Amino acid sequence: MLTSAISAGEVSLVRIPVIWSEECLRHEPAGEVWLGVRDEGTEVPARAVVLRDALAAAGAPVLPARPHGDEIVRTVHDPELVDHLAGVWQAWAGAGLPAEYGRDRVVPYVFPTPGMLSGLPLRSPPAVPGRAGLFCYDTMTLVGPGSWAAIRGAADAALTAADLVGSGERLAYALCRPPGHHVTRGAYGGSCYLNNAAIAAQALRAAGARRVAVIDIDAHHGNGTQMIFYERPDVWYGSLHVDPGAGWFPHYAGYAAERGRGDGEGFNRNLPLAPGTGDDGWLAAVSTLCDEARTLAPDAVVVSLGLDAAATDPESPLCVTETGYRAAGRLVAALGPAVLIQEGGYDLASLGGLAVAALSGAAEGAGLDASS
Ligand SMILES: [Zn+2]
Repeated sequence: MLTSAISAGEVSLVRIPVIWSEECLRHEPAGEVWLGVRDEGTEVPARAVVLRDALAAAGAPVLPARPHGDEIVRTVHDPELVDHLAGVWQAWAGAGLPAEYGRDRVVPYVFPTPGMLSGLPLRSPPAVPGRAGLFCYDTMTLVGPGSWAAIRGAADAALTAADLVGSGERLAYALCRPPGHHVTRGAYGGSCYLNNAAIAAQALRAAGARRVAVIDIDAHHGNGTQMIFYERPDVWYGSLHVDPGAGWFPHYAGYAAERGRGDGEGFNRNLPLAPGTGDDGWLAAVSTLCDEARTLAPDAVVVSLGLDAAATDPESPLCVTETGYRAAGRLVAALGPAVLIQEGGYDLASLGGLAVAALSGAAEGAGLDASS
């Protein structure tokens, strides 16, 4: 009876399991160094609380992330990156940088670019301030005392959601914080540390999915996910995002010409969008990606669910509404069993409504009965 009382424009009950890790709150980047100045930053713990509370209020069951071993994480990422993230705060603090120099977060200051090395072998410098730039490619992605617990908690949330979908659940949503899609195999940045979406995709492959489609609807290009799977035909990556050629992060990737390499040739698809793109243009691109993914007959889908394409979001110039996110949820969830991974989304006032809209749409697209 409840279902019949819900009209198209209202929020339906969200029955999708929300995987939550309390550890996610322990990451306090305390700002970001952007263009040389430390700003407050927008990737704050309150994001996760807002998302959890809004989804719980809409009726979604909130389930704890289960701890997982490192096997999948170390398949997706270079073990050196994982070890660095796990230990860099202790090394930083041990070197006296917070206590003696007032450097209260890990921020790199020198980067071993190809131009700097000019063919020299890439060393691992013994000094931690030097080593930081070996793994982090920007100045915006700070590490503090609780960061590793949160980073690992987010990966556990992704792995738990993948377990559920791998064992027959139609949809599961991992409330990952910090987000992950900017992390490549060996380098982190863009407020991301481990690539939760890639970890979920790899876990689904390990659980028996022959082909996985990753659909990235965050406002920014998921350069990390793209490059992790760039030479692989078993995980297709498709993204729509604000055009990096129009001046947007990640600047160096996300162009339409990037189609994969080697065995992965043709298994990567980028749809850059002009700043200002609203529901119509954005949904047309979501639809194009879904149509292309469908031709691969994926056994499972991973959705990088960034909510920062919203008109209200401070981090992108896209102008998507709740109605748009609900329609996108419908489209992506209709593709098949799907793990939804939280990526960006920074406007605390609208974030909860956007998540409920996206997950309500996903429930509709998957044909889940809202009243049960
Ligand atoms: Zn984003």
